[in-house]
Amino acid sequence: MNLILLGPPGAGKGTQASRLVKERGMVQLSTGDMLRAAVAAGTPVGLAAKAVMDAGGLVSDEIVNGILSERLDQPDARAGFILDGYPRTDVQADALDAMLSGKGLALDHVIELVVDEDALVDRITGRFTCAKCGEGYHDRYKLPAVAGVCDVCGSSEFKRRADDNADTVRQRMLEYRAKTAPIIPHYEGRGIVSRVDGMANMDDVAAAIDAIVDA
Ligand code: AMP
Repeated sequence: MNLILLGPPGAGKGTQASRLVKERGMVQLSTGDMLRAAVAAGTPVGLAAKAVMDAGGLVSDEIVNGILSERLDQPDARAGFILDGYPRTDVQADALDAMLSGKGLALDHVIELVVDEDALVDRITGRFTCAKCGEGYHDRYKLPAVAGVCDVCGSSEFKRRADDNADTVRQRMLEYRAKTAPIIPHYEGRGIVSRVDGMANMDDVAAAIDAIVDA
């Protein structure tokens, strides 16, 4: 089972992808996570990507296609993957088709999380994660049960993404509308696109996704 999760920043792609990883042993392929790791490690890709990411723009197709293709070659991707944040442009969608057919892989579903963009700024600007295990939290909607201590692993270190501020979020949404939403018709003709109400509560979103995947 190979999926693409589509939706603007803050739609819940990462949350749903990590749930599918835990519950189904699938692999989450987040180009945003890969790029953040490259930035943190100071690699040439990270150096090239950092300024664009901080401004909420899109990193070049060439760079992103390269890192995704390499990641798909790792054996765990054969267990079933969830693409989270890729493809984001027409060029990436075409490149993905070529990569998958070259590697003998196929897409089963493209799931679009449909959301109200105004609510997303509020969702995104409050979010933070455990620096150790990656559990997600939110200043208003999901604080740790004990202040300052991760519910899952007990760590007291948390982090926030540099690009989760209101200005950058607006730019990321513009990019989504201009470049990413237009790729949906690319998959529509294949009959693999489904839509889920991303504004519903997390469990309902999860149930809707499960229904699609298990159909
Ligand atoms: P995300 O974690 O998916 O929100 O991505 C964070 C940032 O990484 C984006 O705002 C882009 O700057 C960059 N990025 C992640 N995935 C891609 C992609 N597929 N194409 C271009 N840029 C990307």
